[in-house]
Amino acid sequence: MELKGKKVLVVGLGKSGLAAALFLRRQGAQVTVSDVRSAESLAKEIPTLLEEGIMVEAGGHGLLTFRRQDLIVVSPGVSLDTPALVQVRSFGVPVIGELELAARFLKGRILAITGSNGKTTTTALTGEILKEAGFRTLVAGNIGVPVAGLIEQSTDDTWPVLEVSSFQLETTERFHPHIAVILNITPDHLDRHGTFESYALAKERIFAEQNKDDSLVLNADNERTAEAASRSAARVFWFSLEHPVEQGAWLEDGSVVYRTAPGAPVETVLPLSAIPLKGAHNAENVLAAVCAARLAGAPVEAIRRAVEAFKAVEHRLEHVATINGVEFYNDSKATNVDATAKAVAAFSSGIHLILGGKDKGSNYTQLAPLLRQRVRAVYTIGSAAAKIESQLRGVVSILSCQTLERAVNAAAGAAGAGEVVLLAPACSSFDQFENYEHRGRVFKQLVAQRKG
Ligand code: ADP
Repeated sequence: MELKGKKVLVVGLGKSGLAAALFLRRQGAQVTVSDVRSAESLAKEIPTLLEEGIMVEAGGHGLLTFRRQDLIVVSPGVSLDTPALVQVRSFGVPVIGELELAARFLKGRILAITGSNGKTTTTALTGEILKEAGFRTLVAGNIGVPVAGLIEQSTDDTWPVLEVSSFQLETTERFHPHIAVILNITPDHLDRHGTFESYALAKERIFAEQNKDDSLVLNADNERTAEAASRSAARVFWFSLEHPVEQGAWLEDGSVVYRTAPGAPVETVLPLSAIPLKGAHNAENVLAAVCAARLAGAPVEAIRRAVEAFKAVEHRLEHVATINGVEFYNDSKATNVDATAKAVAAFSSGIHLILGGKDKGSNYTQLAPLLRQRVRAVYTIGSAAAKIESQLRGVVSILSCQTLERAVNAAAGAAGAGEVVLLAPACSSFDQFENYEHRGRVFKQLVAQRKG
């Protein structure tokens, strides 16, 4: 695809939109960026863009701006149902996502990871393993480093390890990973994808362009994920916490093991006790990373060293402090019900759980059995509080706290030695915070203040 002289519009000026605009400009395109946010709120980005010769439309999307383009690149945060996009598509202007743009120019063999939960953890871990194995590795995608910003660093012997979300996959056409991983598919983002099935199908686009020379790694324990195998043209590998698989990774006699093909010898990769992350869900992430890394050719020893040295990514069941025997865990990234369930399942009892934020159309009643078994009390915050309280009434004791500060104080005051205060809110953060990172940092500050 030749970009020189082409008129290209980038819609949405988040991190990936900015990286895409700058990449397109470096390739000689005439670039415009359009964002609904006001010029004041884009004050940081606008000078850089203008300096690079990129035009900026702030405060809305003008239909004329959209119609004048040869190509439109959409940021993952922007819905394809945005009226201006719907209209220009009907006029035949090609619309692609930032990931698709990047994938058309990225060199090397792509290893891509998607799933409802565990993407960042597994992507970071897989990246560490490949680096440990001495591969030229570029870790990017939804993980905070836009793919478009790394294109020019890639060469034919690079392994780009990409975290890809359903929003990014929704707009792919030729995206073709050599190794693709689907960790799990559980309900999330129903506010944007509409139905569970359309969300699941967006995730399946990760293997749409794969062929028999490629590999697809799937979670054998997650029904909706396993079912995808029947639609894949790639070689399918599995991981399972529950049983051996024909080819892939599983647990045996307290160790992570791997087999390259049906009937091949079983390799012992590392003891389960050497995994430094909490929770069965993280053992799943390790199995997936082991499988992907072995397929890429990483030796078992490099995998073992990298897993043993790995630290929980910030805001993912991150241990914050122990105060008077009470453990504080920050899982601010638990922005959906399944992630919260996994966080709760990582502790056997005595949990004081902070729930709430902005609702995403979720069903919190799914948490009821786990809450009954393990949670002493729930502390609600944010705009989802009323819905959570009505769905969980009678299941567990609930204290309505409105703010995170009050919730931390109440939970810490009630928790006894040996118990856990867990922020795993099952909601997004945008009602009270800039994003989940901000929420997690505030939680850690509140805990630090209690430490004195
Ligand atoms: P993602 O990038 O997919 O959001 P993260 O690694 O950032 O994944 O983790 C998101 C949330 O999901 C965190 O709360 C984390 O504790 C939880 N989590 C991590 N791995 C899994 C998994 N395999 N299954 C379910 N929940 C998980």
